Amino acid sequence: MLDTDFFRRWMSATAAAVDREADRLTELDAAIGDADHGMNMRRGFNAVCEVLEKEEPATPGAVLTSAGRQLISTVGGASGPLYGTLLRRTGKALGDDAEVTVGQLAAALGTGVAAVAQLGGARAGDKTMLDALLPAVEVLESSFGEAGDAALAGALATVPLRAHKGRASYLGERSIGHQDPGAASAALLVGALAEAGE
Ligand code: ADP
Ligand code: MG
Ligand code: MG
Repeated sequence: MLDTDFFRRWMSATAAAVDREADRLTELDAAIGDADHGMNMRRGFNAVCEVLEKEEPATPGAVLTSAGRQLISTVGGASGPLYGTLLRRTGKALGDDAEVTVGQLAAALGTGVAAVAQLGGARAGDKTMLDALLPAVEVLESSFGEAGDAALAGALATVPLRAHKGRASYLGERSIGHQDPGAASAALLVGALAEAGE
């Protein structure tokens, strides 16, 4: 079972990974966007850690809804509302149980990812964060490690794609040959699950 503390560890492991990789995320965004993705994510997840310490949400669902709200209010740019929606909707789908199963988390994350697709209008292969999140959700129930690998593979597979959503889409064919920054950060979020589970 996954308790509230697991979800807090998931958010702080994500914050640490984002902090470590912020320069790389910004470099990826410099190639096909506006060079702010590392800073956006760092600001957002720093704020998430602060609010989780202050509010001490009592359930797994409350940890994620509170984190999502924080991302929406602190991160400008496309990624704030999208990641905020992902965590808020995943948290809402978890309900108010004190502990949840890995299967419940997999299903809830599927709901969150569907909400991101609806909000942003992107589909698989559009070279967005969804290209890392969708394959991760598929295998999350079997293991966090496999989900992390799937997200990473999905992020790397965005390199040859042409962007159809977000700023990168303004570049048309010139977006080909670069990894999508949001897919790279989504792989960090999914990869942090295994760290939190240890
Ligand atoms: P901005 O592009 O506004 O500067 P960020 O740089 O923080 O915001 O985030 C860019 C990332 O957001 C992209 O790499 C992509 O993964 C994701 N993104 C942008 N638009 C969409 C969308 N419509 N659907 C899903 N993801 C998107
Ligand atoms: Mg950007
Ligand atoms: Mg921006």
